[in-house]
Amino acid sequence: MTNEIKLLLDDSKNLALENPKKSFAIATEAFQLAELHNLVIQKAYAYFHMAYACRVMSDYSNGLIYAFKALEIFKAENDISGISRIKNIIGIIYFYYGDYTSALEHFIVSLELLGDDKDPIRESAILNNMGEIYREASQLDKALHYFNQALVISQLNNLESNTSAILLNIGEIYFLQENESKSSEYTLNAYELAKSNNSIIIQGEAETKLGRLMFLKKKYDVAETYYKSALEKFDKVNNKYYLIDLLINYAILVESKGVCPRKYLIEALDYATEVGLESKMSLVYKTLAEYYERISDYKTSLTYFKSHHLKEKEVEASNLSKKLEILSIEFKYIKEKNQTFNCQTMSMKFEKEISESKKELEEIKKQNASLLEVSHLDELTQIYNRRGISQKLSESLGSHDELLDAILMFDIDHFKKYNDACGHLQGDQCLELITSKLKTLPYRDYFIGRFGGEEFICYLKVKSLDEAISVAEHIRQTVESLKLSYLNKTITISIGGKVGRMHSDKINEIINQTDQALYVAKDKGRNNVVIAEYKST
Ligand code: GH3
Ligand code: MG
Ligand code: MG
Repeated sequence: MTNEIKLLLDDSKNLALENPKKSFAIATEAFQLAELHNLVIQKAYAYFHMAYACRVMSDYSNGLIYAFKALEIFKAENDISGISRIKNIIGIIYFYYGDYTSALEHFIVSLELLGDDKDPIRESAILNNMGEIYREASQLDKALHYFNQALVISQLNNLESNTSAILLNIGEIYFLQENESKSSEYTLNAYELAKSNNSIIIQGEAETKLGRLMFLKKKYDVAETYYKSALEKFDKVNNKYYLIDLLINYAILVESKGVCPRKYLIEALDYATEVGLESKMSLVYKTLAEYYERISDYKTSLTYFKSHHLKEKEVEASNLSKKLEILSIEFKYIKEKNQTFNCQTMSMKFEKEISESKKELEEIKKQNASLLEVSHLDELTQIYNRRGISQKLSESLGSHDELLDAILMFDIDHFKKYNDACGHLQGDQCLELITSKLKTLPYRDYFIGRFGGEEFICYLKVKSLDEAISVAEHIRQTVESLKLSYLNKTITISIGGKVGRMHSDKINEIINQTDQALYVAKDKGRNNVVIAEYKST
């Protein structure tokens, strides 16, 4: 009988990665047989394989339940090797849940229990897992330390597919540390090894990373060749997970060649949605937002930035709910299995952890809010940057029935000469002085933003064109009266403006018209104001 169960468990193990559903069914069959014949250790190994199949299917909560059941039996039977194996699985599940401390604790115990005649495959796998934890926690030197230990064992024992995965991990750490030459070296080694032992996914991953390195070196054609080759591989094995990163990188490459990257980013977004990877979705939204910002389509950019920030919040919230899920599994498991266990203590721990997690989430939300605020401000002058201007304009335009919108754009006259005469640092101070003076003028719904360089935008609501002209005139005089002088001259500004009923759909058109008015003011000899009515075309 034990032999029959062993054969089933071997089948389950061999099928786990390829067909986890079937692997789970076979392990369940083995479990029923073991139970029928009261074979305790075999039951534990059946649970172990059920947990493993669940993990491959990303069904982490059931995985954790089976793993705990297996652990209990291994402990009761004092089966050290069993404990070591199951602790590694539990560690991986905690890792997925983002509970790195618990994950690390389980990996360390798993490693300690390997005993004297260590199985090199498992030892290097556990060390590699530990490296991944430190990488996620941004402790790159420690990550490198564990990856290197894993590498030595893996290489000594000729575990080729392990070795190529570890080399790739090391290459990634060097990439994060901006050590491009070492990153290339390790990634290329991983690539060669993956080619020689035919592991398609690792080859594709390595090609993606090599493409990214070539892109940084501005070798765009080589990068493209790598990306295309990776694309073919991931298509062949139909792996959507790795396609996402690849498409994002490919999009960045095509943009540098002047091609619109939208198509590739939307495809990446579709895959991320399909696979349910919230953090990748967030990354694609951010990449899209940055692209639209670069091509000055601020409205679309803003929409994607909003989606990006919302997704970030969702990721935080789902991390919290994952933590609660673990706690409830631990709680239920201990309650069920150990009647004498003091449930009250557990319940207190549970509540304490929940309230701590909630506090953490609040803190993250606060940080997000201030991050959002910071990302809307210009660093030098602390007034709105382009992104902030887009946001504020789309909130302000057309929001009042009786009043008109007024947008003024001003540019410092001959600022290049000022810089040349006084130096760039003093130029910066000049920008700060002007903006701090103009930041808080007492107009209706007034704000000011830096459009770029020495060009600024003011917004306010007015009753008439005349009111806007007199405000602009006052702003012009305010700057002149600062008496910021150079080469016997004083700094002045030219202002162009538009007044009317505006709609946020037309931001680009409005800005263009305002810019043209500014050109006219410059043409008239500078230190001038040209304000006209806005008419939608
Ligand atoms: P015009 O009257 O036609 O606007 O002449 P200008 O010299 O102001 O215009 P131009 O566009 O030729 O040059 C703008 C200058 O503004 C050049 C650049 O060095 C300076 N500038 C732009 N941004 C900054 C900045 O952040 N700090 C400093 N110090 N200078 C800046
Ligand atoms: Mg200028
Ligand atoms: Mg300018």
